[in-house]
Amino acid sequence: MSPSKGNDRGSKGRKSGTGKSSRPSKGSSSKKGTGRARRPAPPQGPSPIAVAAVGLVVLLLLGISLFVAFKGSAPQPTPTATPSATPTSTPSARPQRTPKPTPETVETPEPVETPEPSEAPEPSETPESGPEPVAPATQMGPGGALTGPPAMAEFRGETETVQVKRVIDGDTFVTTDGRKIRMIGINTPEVGRPFKKDAADALKELIWGAEVTLEYDGPKAKAIGRYKRTLAYVHAKGVFVTGEIVRRGLAYVYLYPDTKSHNEELIGYQREARAAKRYLWSKPLPEPAKVYIGNRRAPYFHREGCNRIKRLKPGKNRVEFKSRNEALDAGMNPCDDCKT
Ligand SMILES: [Zn+2]
Repeated sequence: MSPSKGNDRGSKGRKSGTGKSSRPSKGSSSKKGTGRARRPAPPQGPSPIAVAAVGLVVLLLLGISLFVAFKGSAPQPTPTATPSATPTSTPSARPQRTPKPTPETVETPEPVETPEPSEAPEPSETPESGPEPVAPATQMGPGGALTGPPAMAEFRGETETVQVKRVIDGDTFVTTDGRKIRMIGINTPEVGRPFKKDAADALKELIWGAEVTLEYDGPKAKAIGRYKRTLAYVHAKGVFVTGEIVRRGLAYVYLYPDTKSHNEELIGYQREARAAKRYLWSKPLPEPAKVYIGNRRAPYFHREGCNRIKRLKPGKNRVEFKSRNEALDAGMNPCDDCKT
């Protein structure tokens, strides 16, 4: 019962039907009302006035109910307005970003290149399995933490820009155009030596995905080494990568007689790493020898009495140092037997 509504609308009590009729279904209900209204009429036959009144009422009711029925059906269009809007709001799914862009990590290990058995001890090249996904920075070695700015140096020779395809170890990588770059001026641990992987990881971190600048230590045309590797200093991301590897204690400075452009910086970075006892410099040193003997032609030095030094004949290539540090500051590396 919604009397109030009915009342407002029509004139009679009948209105209940009418009130309802404001909805589409009303039409029928109002008719019922009409029917009922008629019934009472007949019995009252005697009074014509009553009959007329009833007739009037009936007509009125009919009119009203028809009107209402009409109205009820007409408004239908309005309610449809809203529905379609809601469903569209769901597709909030946002394009998923694909995580790591680290490409190129699948490389197959390069066939081992066997160096010619020449006398000059250029570090043997023993490519390791392809790089794993770029390793996070190895900021802290067994020694002191890295502090201060990374290694920097200006260009002093002809330069060229390349892209890295693969890192082989701490001082060698392959470019996208297929050249093998051996970083000049340094020597990182060889296979089986401590910190070899740390050095490779550091190089990856420093050059991976970057535009790398090769800096030649003279004319580019002369920068091809004995093993057909391109010899160059390396810069990337604003860092003198060659020096940074040294500064982190992951490479010895390794100066051939004709290595010249960055000797001082490299020696300086090596001193810093040594003082902080990073990586290569983290191990206790053996008892000092009375004399250290170096080979100018191939930058290695030995403790007096080392078996390897016996092959070095006295001559202009033989040089003596009073201390290990003196030999290191000359850009020479201890031989494997004399490292510890
Ligand atoms: Zn030795």
